[in-house]
Amino acid sequence: MKRECQVLVVGSGVAGTIAAVAAARKGAHTILVERNNFPGGTAITGLHSFICGLYANDIEMPKHPINKGIVREICSQLKALAPEKKVLRIGKVYALPYSRQDLVSVFRSLIKNEKQHLEVLYNTLAVSVRTKHNTITSVSVRRTKGVFNIIPRAVIDCSGHGAIIQLSGAKYQVSVPKQRQLAGYTFRVKGLKDRDNMAAVKVPYYLAQAYFEKKIPLHLKFTTFIPVDNTDEGLFKISIPPARDSVQRAKEDALVVHRYLCKVMPLFKDSYISDTSSEVLDREGTRLCGEYTLSANDVINARKFPDGTVKNSWSIELWDQEKGPQYRYLNPGDYYEIPARCLRSAEISNLFCAGRCISVSQEALGSTRVMGTCMSLGEQVGLEAVKMVNG
Ligand SMILES: Cc1cc2nc3c(=O)[nH]c(=O)nc-3n(C[C@H](O)[C@H](O)[C@H](O)COP(=O)(O)OP(=O)(O)OC[C@H]3O[C@@H](n4cnc5c(N)ncnc54)[C@H](O)[C@@H]3O)c2cc1C
Repeated sequence: MKRECQVLVVGSGVAGTIAAVAAARKGAHTILVERNNFPGGTAITGLHSFICGLYANDIEMPKHPINKGIVREICSQLKALAPEKKVLRIGKVYALPYSRQDLVSVFRSLIKNEKQHLEVLYNTLAVSVRTKHNTITSVSVRRTKGVFNIIPRAVIDCSGHGAIIQLSGAKYQVSVPKQRQLAGYTFRVKGLKDRDNMAAVKVPYYLAQAYFEKKIPLHLKFTTFIPVDNTDEGLFKISIPPARDSVQRAKEDALVVHRYLCKVMPLFKDSYISDTSSEVLDREGTRLCGEYTLSANDVINARKFPDGTVKNSWSIELWDQEKGPQYRYLNPGDYYEIPARCLRSAEISNLFCAGRCISVSQEALGSTRVMGTCMSLGEQVGLEAVKMVNG
């Protein structure tokens, strides 16, 4: 069995969902395949609470997202669903709090509005790719009923880990395990007693003490905690080194952190783990070798490009295996641009990508990977793919 389409998007995370909607709005017959049965990807499975990368890091509270387009529609719709969730300043940057339920519902409605041109196949995994003369000619996908081929004019890889980049034989970059950024694992706790805003500062303090006393391993010292939603809830993000990359081990680490804090901080005494992420969350995976590779200098020097598409002010946030999180900020009010060339394969003529797997250096990815930026990259890549298809 085979199906044809103009644009095939693989992965319905924040980047892929917007890429597919943008392409369909231009009238391109678009198929979006997603291995889960819901849109949103890591924005949902990661239990995150804040969309980062939406705003300039000005001194003043920002009125609008730094990028125009679908991302602004998403922000307005989230605001309508939860007016109490307001833009927050976190250190030197701004982020938008959101609930996962609301984001899924906004994505479902964006998708539904494009039903004339957009077809979404959930529970569908892209498993192999055929190429001829440096062009992708078909992508095989597996569903419960079996495998079939999709014949696309253009393919957009929004799988996060670069599934299509690898399957198509396109050139890619990947860090060696020793230099890879720490992955993450999140869990929520409920039943906090007398929660106060200092908890976010106290948790790292207690865990640094625990590491010093050899009660926890180094990677757990980098755990962060933020109070979220109801007054008795909080979200932990623990770090996972490459050698411990399994959900089972991550769960064990989560228990170590929680049990320790229950003993030493009265805040956690009666708390319990109410939710855990369903997977270990990679900060980096395979990245495309595109026509241009964005560097850390481009980010920090707020470089603009003739083919600049998405604007971003988010800091470079690197999770070093030895030193933990390291931050480098742009000047207040400034931003850099991500060129369209970072979204196109250098050798496969109809391969594009957006989100976590675009053509950037490991350091630059520390800034481009946040969700607000991935959403805008999705929209731009959808438009680029349609431009190519329409020749
Ligand atoms: C620990 C951690 C904490 C973070 N915290 C935040 C935060 O607070 N705020 C923020 O803005 N960002 C945060 N980020 C970054 C952010 O979550 C991600 O970088 C971003 O969501 C990536 O979006 P994406 O669309 O590129 O990829 P993903 O969200 O990974 O989406 C990829 C989609 O592709 C699907 N897929 C993969 N392979 C296939 C295949 N072969 N066939 C079909 N479907 C496939 C997946 O199921 C998934 O739905 C965090 C990241 C980590 C690791």
